[in-house]
Amino acid sequence: MLVSDYVQDYQDANGYRPVNVIDYYDDYIRPINSTFGRYSFKEQNRVPCWFVDHDDKTASMGYLDDNKHPGRTVYHCFGCGKAGDVVQLHAYIQKEYKNRYLSREDAARDLAKLYNIPLVEGLSDTPESFDEYIEEKLRQISAFEHVYTRVDFDKQIRRLKELDVLDLGLLNDEVIKATATIKHLYA
Ligand SMILES: [Zn+2]
Repeated sequence: MLVSDYVQDYQDANGYRPVNVIDYYDDYIRPINSTFGRYSFKEQNRVPCWFVDHDDKTASMGYLDDNKHPGRTVYHCFGCGKAGDVVQLHAYIQKEYKNRYLSREDAARDLAKLYNIPLVEGLSDTPESFDEYIEEKLRQISAFEHVYTRVDFDKQIRRLKELDVLDLGLLNDEVIKATATIKHLYA
């Protein structure tokens, strides 16, 4: 079993899962600044989005039940559309706000330490089953989709130029950026 699955499904003596998006927000995001500090998933359904490329004027970040993993919760921003689990969240917060680069499984180990979860023998860092493998790949793709969209868009523009269907006189960086933003290609 992956460390990241183990820590998320770990239950304490009361059947409570200590590693979850809702508690994580209170414990490790609220203290970052006063904007985050004014919110809690325990008082509101939405909190400010923590993704730095989303200048969230309203609190757009919510959470949903994880359909694939009953008992888990995933975050979902109703503004920028990004979603993920608490392990992705920890890796992101560490990278963006603490300058620490953690792999997914290292982020999971970190969470185990933070929430006093004893790790057991036989946990692995790489997917063992086909399902785990596919899930990991899908996660990697969704993590990259916001990185490569501008590149993809440039490629598309270049193709249009080659096909000669684009009036280059009308095109400048602002137009490209505006169009890409409308199409959600450029975050
Ligand atoms: Zn967002």
